[in-house]
Amino acid sequence: MSTPAKLPELFGSLVFNEETMKERLSSASYGAWKKCITDGTSLNISTANEIAEAMKQWAVEKGATHYTHWFQPMTGVTAEKHDSFITPVGGGKIIMEFSGKELVRGEPDASSFPSGGLRATFEARGYTAWDPTSFAFIKEDSLCIPTVFCSYSGEALDKKAPLLRSIDEVSRQAVRILRLFGDTETRRVTAQVGPEQEYFLIDKELYNQRKDLRMTGRTLFGAKPPRGQELEDHYFGAIKPRVAAYMKDLDETLWALGVLSKTKHNEVAPSQHEMAPIYSDANTACDHNQLAMEMMKKVADRHNLVCLLHEKPFAGVNGSGKHDNWSLGTDTGKNLFRPGSTPRQNAQFLLFLAAFVKGVDEYQDFLRTTVAFPGNDHRLGAQEAPPAVISIFLGDDLNGVVESIIKGTEFKEAGKRTLQIGIDVLPSIPQDNTDRNRTSPMAFTGNKFEFRMPGSSQSVSGPNIALNTIMAESLSQFADVLEQSKDFQSDLQALIKKAFTEHQRIIFNGNGYDDAWLVEAEKRGLCNLKSTADALPAYVAPKNVELFVKHGIYTKGELQARYEIHVENYSTVVGIEASTMADMIRHDILPAVSGYATDLCGRVDAKETCGFPCKYEKTTAGEVSALTDALLDACDKLESDLAAVPAGAEKAMVYNHEVIIPDMAAARTITDKLETLTASEYWPFPVYADLLFSV
Ligand code: ADP
Ligand code: MG
Repeated sequence: MSTPAKLPELFGSLVFNEETMKERLSSASYGAWKKCITDGTSLNISTANEIAEAMKQWAVEKGATHYTHWFQPMTGVTAEKHDSFITPVGGGKIIMEFSGKELVRGEPDASSFPSGGLRATFEARGYTAWDPTSFAFIKEDSLCIPTVFCSYSGEALDKKAPLLRSIDEVSRQAVRILRLFGDTETRRVTAQVGPEQEYFLIDKELYNQRKDLRMTGRTLFGAKPPRGQELEDHYFGAIKPRVAAYMKDLDETLWALGVLSKTKHNEVAPSQHEMAPIYSDANTACDHNQLAMEMMKKVADRHNLVCLLHEKPFAGVNGSGKHDNWSLGTDTGKNLFRPGSTPRQNAQFLLFLAAFVKGVDEYQDFLRTTVAFPGNDHRLGAQEAPPAVISIFLGDDLNGVVESIIKGTEFKEAGKRTLQIGIDVLPSIPQDNTDRNRTSPMAFTGNKFEFRMPGSSQSVSGPNIALNTIMAESLSQFADVLEQSKDFQSDLQALIKKAFTEHQRIIFNGNGYDDAWLVEAEKRGLCNLKSTADALPAYVAPKNVELFVKHGIYTKGELQARYEIHVENYSTVVGIEASTMADMIRHDILPAVSGYATDLCGRVDAKETCGFPCKYEKTTAGEVSALTDALLDACDKLESDLAAVPAGAEKAMVYNHEVIIPDMAAARTITDKLETLTASEYWPFPVYADLLFSV
């Protein structure tokens, strides 16, 4: 596909966006689509037919030959099933056809996607339905239609359906609150999301020599390189030409797809980079993040690079996260988390803030579980990532306000007695981007929250579904009280004070990496769910089930299904990693180190014949031999433990966490020691220094 020269022409050129729809649809159909977006009405079949026809014409003009319903099954990646537009019309001729029915509903065989027992395979058919709030786009000669994926009984089999439900629900509840503040204009409140995506780029040839990278996406072995992140200042220097070429290509690829990408070269670890898009509505942001992850890999391939999206590709080197920036915006263009300049605006801001604080405290376990999977276990709680304990960072200024509300005491800057919510003005809360707390899992950054726990490889739908829903719950509780209020001003004051008082424990402005914080957090009664195995049960905790069922986001069955999928996935991932490790030890590492020790012994013989000293050869051969046997034992243990994984998904998960993970750590420690002793030419695959400084 040729690339238009100018950015405005390039941007969105592969997207069937609003402008294109306006151009190509009758005003009646365009109006019907628009109404469907703003009022949530459904499309009738004649409108769907017209849209399908216009979409197809547009796509064919752009060179597309196929169409696909593009969806996000619970695996966390995207899936697609391609059908061609081609319909035979006899006489060896074809026409390009695509109907409204095919647009709004497709029927992939759902049996090969995880459903967590929601759908037995004999009734394997699920259906996908166009999500008209997300634009269709062209990718590799296929028209991609973003869709939801459901079973025939209506249960969500994907991540989009519950996301859309949560987007609607938080809007409904937020509008109730806005009405109480006299806002009669806002019709919709939209969760706004800007996910920052971190990734590593390494050389493809080196990648191909590492079985662990190929099989598991991360290195299972690797001693600390002589040079790590210590020289980060140097590293910040010039962008290497190969990386610059990749970033240019990635930006252009994403722009054509309508993704507002701004790639950067700013991460701490060598070879690590970041792509942050300009934020958009949560649904688009989640779709675009999926698309961005896919394109990062594809573009890398074109440059003989490999893009690693794993949370922790290299032990001892910063891992990759996906900071989920989240806020609420009205269709009249207001950000509900921006402190205002009038007392009334501030009262409203404080109510939304209180709702958030209350929600995060009450559902901290659920938020934690939305980021729980094996890759992220290597990251959360490690030095560069937030701890596994959830807390909110407000910054000194806002925290001062909250404290004065709680204590009813003098409020520093303004010099007033007590802060009268709705009567006094707040001091200005700076939008602090440079000096903010980077150790907090949930930081207020002036007009949004930055949830820093999500992992780089994961779909951001799960965390955003949770944020939207817990916010909807707090707001609905507040609205229930305030809608009945006889004295709005004083009930509002009381409500905000109560929420901050009861949930102050979740606010923490100190250093989240400090061990003292973990002790303090425990005193405060906050959850510290250290691993995936600890965190996953929160999916089905009764209070959480109640929350999601109440708001119509997940049914009990859907939550149970998600829980089961994650539990099973944990064991699958650990199982693959452990087998890969054993395979590499037996087939690559043991033979290599044994060869090295043997050769050293040969040299000892040769040297002794000549009467030369051979301390180096002897001691090294001795150390290597001892470690070789220790590694054999560790590998034997890993293999026999792997053969004894108990039946039952939950038992298997706990066993993998408690037995297999420590086995792997033990085998790794020995191997890494061996790596430092073994001559480079004997080591069977590229080491960290090669990989991290390869590009
Ligand atoms: P930093 O690295 O300092 O966190 P970045 O610019 O890399 O900052 O990322 C900030 C992200 O937050 C961007 O994706 C940006 O579009 C997004 N963002 C900014 N304002 C909002 C908002 N009100 N709601 C949601 N996301 C936002
Ligand atoms: Mg950030």
